Amino acid sequence: MIRFGFDIDGTTTTNDWLLPYVNEHFGLNVQMEEVVEYDLNHVTNTTPEEFGKWFIENEERMYLDPPIMKGAKEIITKWAENNEIYFISARGNDVLNITSNWLKENEIPFNHLELIGTHDKINSVKKHQIQIFFEDRHDNAINISRECGIPCILFDAPYNRLPIPEDVTVIRCYNWKEALEWVNEWMAQQ
Ligand SMILES: [Mg+2]
Repeated sequence: MIRFGFDIDGTTTTNDWLLPYVNEHFGLNVQMEEVVEYDLNHVTNTTPEEFGKWFIENEERMYLDPPIMKGAKEIITKWAENNEIYFISARGNDVLNITSNWLKENEIPFNHLELIGTHDKINSVKKHQIQIFFEDRHDNAINISRECGIPCILFDAPYNRLPIPEDVTVIRCYNWKEALEWVNEWMAQQ
């Protein structure tokens, strides 16, 4: 049995889920390929405070129904048969019900859901003894792999295309099928 850890936004959801809301509110037509940094201040010409204020005021409706990334449901469901599924997200605990409902409505099985309200997931990953983690944030993937000594699948996005250091096991995948293939080989060696 493996205990899997998953990020939600940009990993279980599509990585462009927020863009329509941003374009609508800020009167922009930003395309995903232009989003080359994780934080959207560089495409919205906002300060982190301005963007954060708008985000907090609108997060509940935006978290209601983000699109799921292709393959995520089927592959997580398959792994859930013999393994444990933990979701660890930087979302705040105030959206726990919305997030839990979204997982249930999308029929994504899980054993544990933790919204830690910060991007620093290392403590949570260590505490729960997660054995492999799935992320879309470059620094998170590197730090989790390095500090927790586990492999981390990094779902490719325009905002995470920085080099991967040699001392970590971070595997860039372009879709869930690729992730499945890497994990199958890895599991066979466990
Ligand atoms: Mg994410």
